[in-house]
Amino acid sequence: MIITDLSNQPVRSVSKPSFPRNKPTAKQRGAISPSVRQALKARSEGVCERCKAARAVHAAHITRRWKLDRTTVLDLLHLCERCHVWCDTTKDGRAYLSAAAGAEHIQSN
Ligand SMILES: [Zn+2]
Repeated sequence: MIITDLSNQPVRSVSKPSFPRNKPTAKQRGAISPSVRQALKARSEGVCERCKAARAVHAAHITRRWKLDRTTVLDLLHLCERCHVWCDTTKDGRAYLSAAAGAEHIQSN
């Protein structure tokens, strides 16, 4: 039986890099800054950008977080609760979001 003494081995086989990470985390990518939120409200005027009927209470990502570096107002839609759920949970909803990403009213603001 061979007993290997590991007491002199480093805990990490590969040392932790000393440089800071240069890519934002998924959470950072998806974060909506106060100024972006304000710009979104200004664009929607507080009304759901899909149904144009209900009060907009959700900021929905139209660009998938992993594609983003940072979230801008162009990556978001201001939606009511119902529309947000529809967008995130149905196939038609996802298609709607994809189409919205290139829509003129989003890009012109
Ligand atoms: Zn709505």
